[in-house]
Amino acid sequence: MPEGHMIHVDARRFDEAMGDRVVHTDSPQGRFADGAAALDGRTLRDTEAFGKNLFLRFSGASPQYLHVHLGLIGGWTWWDADHQQLSGRPVVNADSSNVRLRLRTGRGDAERSAELRGAITCTLVDEEGMDRAVAKLGPDPLRDDADPGLAWAKVRKSKKPIGGLLLDQAVTAGAGLIWRAEVPFLAGVDPHRPGVDVAEDEFTTMWSEMARVMSEAVERGGKEITTDPADRPETDGHVGRDDAFYVFRRDGEPCLRCGTEIRVAEMGTRKVWWCPSCQPR
Ligand SMILES: [Zn+2]
Repeated sequence: MPEGHMIHVDARRFDEAMGDRVVHTDSPQGRFADGAAALDGRTLRDTEAFGKNLFLRFSGASPQYLHVHLGLIGGWTWWDADHQQLSGRPVVNADSSNVRLRLRTGRGDAERSAELRGAITCTLVDEEGMDRAVAKLGPDPLRDDADPGLAWAKVRKSKKPIGGLLLDQAVTAGAGLIWRAEVPFLAGVDPHRPGVDVAEDEFTTMWSEMARVMSEAVERGGKEITTDPADRPETDGHVGRDDAFYVFRRDGEPCLRCGTEIRVAEMGTRKVWWCPSCQPR
């Protein structure tokens, strides 16, 4: 599942490629034929990301918002005029029969298209519908209007582990498995620690570190890195998957800070990683 910062990267891409332009839409798969027909020929006015939810606002009559949640397997792929893929997971079979929604803009060399596959939510909503969807979410550390106090109010009363609370989109919106493991490491907190036992300054550190690592990832076009250069082996500047994280998928390997073996456990139905020395219970 994409982490929430990828949705902010998607929002930027739409803004840059299609913002204030007339967009043509269709649904090759057919499952979103009515919605695509309703959007076709409208102008993209605005893009917003809240956690893992993308909203594209179009000109014209209500409903004006396209709401997309990628879920576990969904994703966008972008193409240029020559049908060269610009971004997204490489599409081996470029057959478009499983494309739920395709958006196109520009002519000739400037043509850009975005294809949506596999999303759990792809729907048109009015402003109230958008507000309802957003109201279910906790604050998103990447948004300027986010109020971390709303997340803290839930964390401090909860007996659930902080690693689970960070993944709960109603507490903080945007974290996936990478951030829910790396952020407690950066704050020196065991992810199993119940929310009620997390100190306010520890939560404040987690919030600010989450905002930092997520916004840095957005600036890299999505690539997640949490390690400080001082904690990585000398390389030619390229940071590989093995050096990008302190704990995520590093079970059995030595902690980059203290050498203790990184551990892994099930939390909820998904995995969490931590260093038992750097992250006291
Ligand atoms: Zn350690």
